[in-house]
Amino acid sequence: MALNKKQIKFFEGKLVAEKEELEKQIKELSVPPVFSSEKNRFQEEEKADEIEEAGSRLSAGEVLRHNLSDIKNALQKMKKGNYGICEKCGVLISFKVLKTEPASIFCQKCKREKGD
Ligand SMILES: [Zn+2]
Repeated sequence: MALNKKQIKFFEGKLVAEKEELEKQIKELSVPPVFSSEKNRFQEEEKADEIEEAGSRLSAGEVLRHNLSDIKNALQKMKKGNYGICEKCGVLISFKVLKTEPASIFCQKCKREKGD
C-alpha cells in the first residue's frame, strides 16, 4: 500500500526538521578553530590537541553532510512522487522502516543485503 498524503506530510515535516538541524550543526562546525599563534613550548601540547580537535571536526562534518544529502535526496523524491519506494528493487518501503529512518531509500531486505 502506498503512503497516503497524510503520511508523506508527516515524513516531510520530520525530514525538514532534521535538515534544518543538520544545516545548523554544519554551520557551527565550519567555524574555523582558533589556533594559538604563540611559540611558547609549554603550549605545544595544547596546540596538538587543537589540531586533533580540528581533525575530528572535519570527519564529523563529513558525516553530517552525508546525512544531509540523504535527507535532500528523500525530499527530492517526495517532489517527484516516488518517496518510500526502494531504489534497488522498487518495492514500497514499509512504514516502520521510514518511521525510524525517514531518509531511507532502500527497503528492509535490500538494506540487509547491503549490510548497512
Ligand atoms: Zn528493496
